[in-house]
Amino acid sequence: MAVGILALQGAFIEHAHSLEQLSQDYILLRKKADIPKNLERLILPGGESTVQRKLLHELDLYSVLKEKILEDMPVLGTCAGLILLAGEIAGEETDGFRTLPVLVRRNAYGRQLGSFSAEGTVGEISNFPLRFIRAPYIEKILNPAVTVLNLTDQHITAVRYRNQIGTAFHPELTEDLRIHKMFLNL
Ligand code: GLN
Repeated sequence: MAVGILALQGAFIEHAHSLEQLSQDYILLRKKADIPKNLERLILPGGESTVQRKLLHELDLYSVLKEKILEDMPVLGTCAGLILLAGEIAGEETDGFRTLPVLVRRNAYGRQLGSFSAEGTVGEISNFPLRFIRAPYIEKILNPAVTVLNLTDQHITAVRYRNQIGTAFHPELTEDLRIHKMFLNL
C-alpha cells in the first residue's frame, strides 16, 4: 500500500518511525513529483501549519493532494495536520485543504502552557497517551457527520469525518501504535 507522509516541515520523521514499527513502507512527499499516482494513504504531520500551508501551495502539492482527499483517500492529520484539514480557523483565513468540517483554534491552550500530556479514549481505543504541543482544539463541529473521537478537559481534540482523522495531539510521539494501525486499516 502506498502511504505518503507530507515532509515539508515539522515532525514527519516521527510518523515514519511509527510506520516502520508496523513494517509499513512509506514515501516522504517533498515535491509534486514524489506523489505516486496510486497514493492510498496520507499523513499530515505536526509542525507549523502556516509554513506547511505556504509550502504546499508554493511546491504545487496542494491540488493533487486535495483532490485525493476529496476522492476519499484516508488521511491522518496530527496537530498542524489537523489545522491543514480544518474547514475554518478561529480568527484567521485559511487556504488549507478545508476538507474537514470543523472550526479549530490554533495554540488554543496558549503558546507557553500549550504542551502537556494526558491519557484518554480515542474512538474504540482506550487509555491512549495524549501528547499536546502548542496544540489546537476543535471549537465547533460544522457538519453532524463528524464523529468526536476524544474529549480532553471538555475540548474536542480528535475527530473523524468520512476518510479523514484529525487529532490535536501527537500519536507519533508515543510508543503506542494503535492509532497508526487503525488508520492503516481504514
Ligand atoms: N501551533 C502549531 C500551529 O498552529 C501546531 C503545533 C504542532 O503541530 N505541534 O501550526
